[in-house]
Formats: sequence, structure tokens, C-alpha cells
Amino acid sequence: MKPVRRLVTTLALALAVLVCAAPAVVLGASKSSRPTLVVDFDDTLVRTQPLYDRAKKKLQALAKSAGLDPQKTLATFNALQKERMKTLGFSRERFPSSMRDAVKKLGGSAKLQQQAYEIGNAVFETRAHNYPHAEALLSTLKHQGWNVIVLTKGDPDVQRARVFGSSLVDYVDAVEIVKDKSARTFRSLFRKYNVDSGKVWVAGNSLRSDVLPAIDAGVAPERAIWLSARGSWAHELAGNAKLPASGRTAKSLAEAGKLLGLPRLKKYARPRRDLPRDPLLRDIARVLTADLLKPRYAAMPMAGAHYTTGHCYLAVESLYHLKGGAKSGLKPQTIQHEGGPHWFARDLSDKVHDPTAAQFATPVNYANGRGCGFLTGDKPSARTREVMLRVQALRKYGRRRR
Ligand SMILES: [Mg+2]
Repeated sequence: MKPVRRLVTTLALALAVLVCAAPAVVLGASKSSRPTLVVDFDDTLVRTQPLYDRAKKKLQALAKSAGLDPQKTLATFNALQKERMKTLGFSRERFPSSMRDAVKKLGGSAKLQQQAYEIGNAVFETRAHNYPHAEALLSTLKHQGWNVIVLTKGDPDVQRARVFGSSLVDYVDAVEIVKDKSARTFRSLFRKYNVDSGKVWVAGNSLRSDVLPAIDAGVAPERAIWLSARGSWAHELAGNAKLPASGRTAKSLAEAGKLLGLPRLKKYARPRRDLPRDPLLRDIARVLTADLLKPRYAAMPMAGAHYTTGHCYLAVESLYHLKGGAKSGLKPQTIQHEGGPHWFARDLSDKVHDPTAAQFATPVNYANGRGCGFLTGDKPSARTREVMLRVQALRKYGRRRR
């Protein structure tokens, strides 16, 4: 292809991807009229703190077995953790390396140091269990037309694995992983998803991170729910933050559901029925959340668009790479449908694979599709790599036991 022609093709492709099945009616829409819950993840919806507590007990037992003072080991570990907050922040490395170095400081052998590191590292390889009613709460919200946005802080790799390895992801519209939660974080989230801060509800176990900055960003205190009866780690408890008089307190997610005006929660969730049958297409569909859309389109699902809207290019590119790239034999195709370009794929036997077909009200005339290359050639784009990591997490931790 000549350079100029290649440039024109690339630009046309880029435009096709940008407007990929973005319905004009949704673009530039006024603020979402649907109720929205912005909810924390760790120790609000899933039990994370017990994983850390258990690891600390194991460290002490390990120290004791090697003739070290368990109390001293724990104190040294805690001091290292605190000190490294400044340099390592929420990095995954901080917890296991503080365990290793605590043992090292007290004269533990290289083998003992390695064992201590592994105890710390196992925290991130273990699935965090849901709190009672977590799945029922989110599924009820979804069935009642709420938007659910998970706002979680921490190491992106750790949080991605936790959220997408959890059954809860089926009931979530967007997942935001941030370094810190300030009023500015909440304000930019409300702007991005075009939701009205005056109508948003927030819920979380940390007053300092989940509740107070949201109130500062315009959330009414009577719509801010503090899950007060949760283990909250020392860093989160720092300071003498207080819930305003009109703020809400819930001891459980069932109580939070009551405050949100939901009917009494059942023990189990209502399963999602809008997912593709094919296992791979299903896995891809389960991890497609609004945060993967270009910022201009991120508000579409919040305004009521189908959850696959705007994801067709990404879903096809992800399918192609998850099936092994060029050796999958899949050929990407584009077509105009319902007023915008749409992407799907054909395999070697000409069978159509369309992960986002469910967004349309009318059947797609696949016979009119044209073969088309991906924008990033045979390398997965950054967003496709993200989808692949999410699918990996889903497969590793997220299989349902029932
Ligand atoms: Mg939390």
C-alpha cells in the first residue's frame, strides 16, 4: 500500500473505531436520569482484610518456628509497611517485601526470607470472598435500572484480578482503579459518566476514602452510606474523620440495600441472561465495562445504551488475539448497521462471530461485510491487552462453583 493511501485507510479506520456503533441519540445526551451507586470494592463488597490478617498470623508462626520473636517480627513488619507507604504506595510489592525484610532484619536465613515473601505474595493469589448479599445487592440494583460504578484504589494489577476474578463484575457498568480517592477523583468520575452528583449514592467501608471525599464532591450526606462494621486497616483509620449527622451508616449490605430503597434482598443473585452462549464470547462480554470506551462514549451505558454498545471493535480484536491471532484464521470485517459502522469476524469456514450483536434491535446483514485490518496490525492494542488480562483473571478466579 502507498504511504498516502495507507494514511487515508488508517484515518478512515480510526474514525470507524471511534464512532463504532455509537448511537447518535446517546451522544451529547443530558445527564443520566438513572440512579447511580458508586461503590468501593475491598472490604465493602469482598472480604480482603482477612487475607492480610491471616498472612500476618502465618508470618508470626513462621518466625516462631525459626526461633525468632513473633511479636518483634510483626512490629518490624508493621514499621517497614508504614515506611514503604511513602515510596511504594499501594504497589503489590510492598506487602511481601516488608515480610521478607522484617525476617531479614531479625537475622532470618535466606530460606526463611523467601518463605516470608511467599506468605505475603499469596495474599494476591487468593480469591477474596464476597460479603453476604454482595451479589444480591448489585444484581437487584441492575435489574432495577441502576448504574453501578466500582471505584477502588490500589495496585492496578491486583485490583483488576480482584474485581474481574469476582462474580460481582457481572453487575457492574464501570470499574475505576485509582491511586487515591479525593473530592477531585469523584468529581472527574461524575463528569466522565455524565451523572449528577446531587442524585448519586456512594457506599464504602472507609470514611476517609469512600464517604467524605464524595460528600466534598457534591454527594448529599443522606446518600452517603458508610459500612461501619468492617475491618478497616490502620492507614484508613488515620485521622479523626467523622460522618456528618445526616450521613447514613449500615452494618451490612442488606442494610445498605434498605437505605437504597430496595426490596428485601434474597440470599442469591438473579443471574444475567444477556450474555452470549459461546464460552469465549461470553468471557469477553462479561469484562466489557464502560471505562474501556473512549472518554466521549463512557457515559453511553449510564444513559441506558446496551452494555456492548461502542465495544464492537475492541471485542472483535480481543476475540482475535484470545484465539491466537493470525493462526486463529479469523478475519475482521466491518459493515454499516443502524446508522454506524459495526465490527465482527469470520472464521475459515465463513462462520460469523459477533460478540456485540446483542446491542442491535434489527438483524445484521453480515453478507455485506468487508474485510478490514486492525488499527494496530497484528499486535493487540492497549485496550485489547486490558481485556485479555481481565479474561485471564475471570478464568483464574471467577468460575462459579454453583
Ligand atoms: Mg475498602
